Amino acid sequence: MHFLRLFCAYTTIALISVFRLFLSDPLMHLILLGPPGTGKGTISEFIEAKFEAEHVSTGDLLRDEVAKKTEIGKSVEPILNKGALVDDSVVVQVLRKKLSQAKAKNFILDGFPRNLNQAKILDWLLHELDVSLDAVLNIDSSEDVIIKRLSARRQCVKCKRIYGLDVPSKKKGVCDDCGAKTMQRKDDKPSIIKKRLRLYNELTLPLIFFYGGKGLLIHVDGNRPLQEIFEEVETVLKKFDG
Ligand code: AMP
Repeated sequence: MHFLRLFCAYTTIALISVFRLFLSDPLMHLILLGPPGTGKGTISEFIEAKFEAEHVSTGDLLRDEVAKKTEIGKSVEPILNKGALVDDSVVVQVLRKKLSQAKAKNFILDGFPRNLNQAKILDWLLHELDVSLDAVLNIDSSEDVIIKRLSARRQCVKCKRIYGLDVPSKKKGVCDDCGAKTMQRKDDKPSIIKKRLRLYNELTLPLIFFYGGKGLLIHVDGNRPLQEIFEEVETVLKKFDG
């Protein structure tokens, strides 16, 4: 009798564990929102390393197309250089391919969505890929801090690692990780930065209400040293990991 009770208890616990495994999605899928220059790229690198997440940046994907001189790359290069936004359908095309590979892991989406239409497309895309969104981190900074940061930003042309005021490369102009050249992006010039900020305020800022309404938004103050931001992001994300 005692053995039977024990057997039933263990079987119940095992069944509950199996059910929980099937019911909960153990992966962490995030969006990073915030104006250009708030450190989204660097924060993504931190999350990538800490939570084994893939950094999916539509800016990087488009710059890759430009570097490879593909048809898409040739068509978007002038748009990127002047800091304007690429057509939604083109961005979705490069993103869809990348997300279908990244969906089996933790991922952080950076640079997408950039307007309400893209946010709605993303809902569809995630539904199609059977992926759920855990949180949207909104990193905010003042305009002065943004312009200072972006003017100092350099990116490795090969591995895409980002360097800046808080994290300079050891040797000027050379990537610490792969030894390739680091360069200033053409759209990190002051007049273009102002244009990108204007576009952000006009088109991307409304997404705060969109994701706030879904209960997914988490605010992170980006006007602080990176180390403090990293600590807060780590604390906030621990509850979504696994
Ligand atoms: P980022 O690296 O996110 O600052 O993006 C660099 C540039 O890529 C932007 O200024 C746009 O020209 C283009 N881009 C990146 N993501 C998007 C997007 N979601 N929609 C439209 N254009 C984008």
